[in-house]
Amino acid sequence: SWSSSDSVISTDSSGDPADPGSPYRVVLLGASGVGKTAFASIFGGAADSMESDDCELCADEVCEREIEVDGEPATVSLLDTWDVETDSEWAREHFLQTADAFLLLYSVTDRASFLRASELRITLRRFRPAHRTPIILVGNKCDLVRRREVSVSEGRACAAVFDCKFIETSAAMQHNVWEAFHGIVRQLRLRRDPKEV
Ligand code: GDP
Repeated sequence: SWSSSDSVISTDSSGDPADPGSPYRVVLLGASGVGKTAFASIFGGAADSMESDDCELCADEVCEREIEVDGEPATVSLLDTWDVETDSEWAREHFLQTADAFLLLYSVTDRASFLRASELRITLRRFRPAHRTPIILVGNKCDLVRRREVSVSEGRACAAVFDCKFIETSAAMQHNVWEAFHGIVRQLRLRRDPKEV
């Protein structure tokens, strides 16, 4: 767990980037209402939660589970409840500095959330000057065709400027959500094991 009081210590001692068994810590970032909770429910298997026990929802609302990506298991620890707008500066710095990767969400129906994603990307760059932190810019709610305010090409152009990957998703339709999670794991693997690829 990484938001408990001892997490600074455990992060430093257990986060060996060379150990393929340690979980990848992924944070969902984005303005409120863009679909972070919906993403986390899909990741946690909300639809089949009655029979599924492979997701461990901790008190900290970090969901950790093993997923298969390209035929290989990967353990992903997903944090979605961190609120950029209200949480303390300490929490903000802590998560920005200790996460392994970020899904940076906006809603294609909400231009303000798109601008917020840009600001968050700049904040990330400040906290994580190393360029190799995997980030995927995620334009969610692409099912809401008639309410779209941000075009696909704007999203793609923004990702190009930010030097990160881009995907459009619909959590409501469960479209491309797993692709986003798989994409982040692929990037993390490239980063952890650059020689093996
Ligand atoms: P959060 O504040 O970022 O956690 O956003 P939520 O996950 O709570 O989503 C905010 C609202 O948008 C909820 O009513 C969701 O049902 C809805 N929502 C989330 N993702 C989608 C999507 O892909 N399509 C549509 N149509 N609605 C969505």
